Amino acid sequence: MTEKFPMPKMPAMPEVPEGIWGFRDAVDKAGVEGGAETAVKREVGEANKAGEASVTAVEVGEANKAGEASVTAVEVGETEIAATLLGGLRIGLGYDVHALVEGRKLILGGVNIPHAKGLDGHSDADVLAHAVADALLGASRAGDIGKLFPDTDPTYAGADSLVLLGHVAALVREEGFEIMDVDCVIAAQNPKLSPYRDAMRANLSKVLALSIDSVGIKATTTEHLGFVGREEGISAQAVCLLCRCSC
Ligand SMILES: [Zn+2]
Repeated sequence: MTEKFPMPKMPAMPEVPEGIWGFRDAVDKAGVEGGAETAVKREVGEANKAGEASVTAVEVGEANKAGEASVTAVEVGETEIAATLLGGLRIGLGYDVHALVEGRKLILGGVNIPHAKGLDGHSDADVLAHAVADALLGASRAGDIGKLFPDTDPTYAGADSLVLLGHVAALVREEGFEIMDVDCVIAAQNPKLSPYRDAMRANLSKVLALSIDSVGIKATTTEHLGFVGREEGISAQAVCLLCRCSC
């Protein structure tokens, strides 16, 4: 195999001085098979300190193309800005499931959706709002919705989950994070959710104090597979991007 598909000769890696969080080195020339010459000058302006964000700022002075292989030149004007921006970003993932039962309202993203069944739970069981809340809490490392609003606490019986989500958003902001973007997917075999999507987006954007453009909601069936497909429950997933920075 190795003879038939020879690996290209790779340029030598620059020596990395001791120290985990930063290094300063320059690669003057890197040979690429075929005789073409690639000159990459890599300069790291500032090394980050342990305990702070681990961001490597890379300044590429020159990058030549070698044959068909292209080298991307990235120029970071101010390493401090780059470090602050990248070091302050967090992503979060939230996932929630509630059972579909008779005699309950179906509330998704704060919208009361007409349906023969609704989601069961201690609160209003808004599975979408719960997934978004957990995404925010995950990104800010502030626990999860069950920890914040225990289902054993009568205070939250029948609670409006959009109100709970508003509390979570406030908590995240108190921790110094700005909410940048949220995207969600709801898995439900029935009912068809697309007619309610814009209303759900509007509710979430309002409670999160985000532009509606920064809130994505998609809906899918599971092709009759699993508990969602059997209409035993509805699940939701959400991701969010937070930034603890001055951008
Ligand atoms: Zn829930």
